[in-house]
Amino acid sequence: MLDADFFRRWMTATAASVDREAERLTALDAAIGDADHGSNMRRGFTAVQAELDKETPGTPGAVLMLAGRLLISTVGGASGPLYGTLLRRTGKALGEDPEVTEEQLAEALRAGVQGVMKLGGAAAGDKTMVDALLPAVDALGDGFAAARAAAEQGAEATVPLLAHKGRASYLGERSIGHQDPGATSSALLMAALAETAEG
Ligand code: ADP
Ligand code: MG
Ligand code: MG
Repeated sequence: MLDADFFRRWMTATAASVDREAERLTALDAAIGDADHGSNMRRGFTAVQAELDKETPGTPGAVLMLAGRLLISTVGGASGPLYGTLLRRTGKALGEDPEVTEEQLAEALRAGVQGVMKLGGAAAGDKTMVDALLPAVDALGDGFAAARAAAEQGAEATVPLLAHKGRASYLGERSIGHQDPGATSSALLMAALAETAEG
């Protein structure tokens, strides 16, 4: 069973990973966006970490809803509301249980990804974070390591795609040949989940 502390550690691991990888995320965004994805993610998860240092919500759902709320209020890019929706929706779907199963998390994350797709209008293959998140959710039934691998493969598979959503879509054909920054940060989120599960 996964308790509130597990989810707090997942967010902490994500914050550390985003901090380490911020330059890489920004470099990817420099190629097909406006060179701020690393700083956007860092600002958001630094705020999440600071709040979780002050208070530990008592349930898995409350941890994710708090994180989602902070991402929405601190990240002024497309990724803030999208990641905020992902975490808030996932948290809401987990309800008020003090502990949840891996199956519950997989189901809740699916609801979260559906929230992202509804908000942003992106489908699979549009070269966005959805291309890492959807395969990860599909693989979660096979365990956290499988979800991490699926997210990483999904992010790498965005390289040859033509962007249909977000700033990268303004580039048209010139978006081809670059890995999507948001898919890359989504792979970091799933890697942090696997890392947390491994202890
Ligand atoms: P901004 O584009 O506002 O500067 P960021 O650079 O932080 O925001 O985030 C860019 C990432 O957000 C993209 O790489 C992509 O993965 C994701 N993204 C942008 N628009 C959408 C959308 N409509 N649906 C899903 N993801 C999106
Ligand atoms: Mg950007
Ligand atoms: Mg921006």
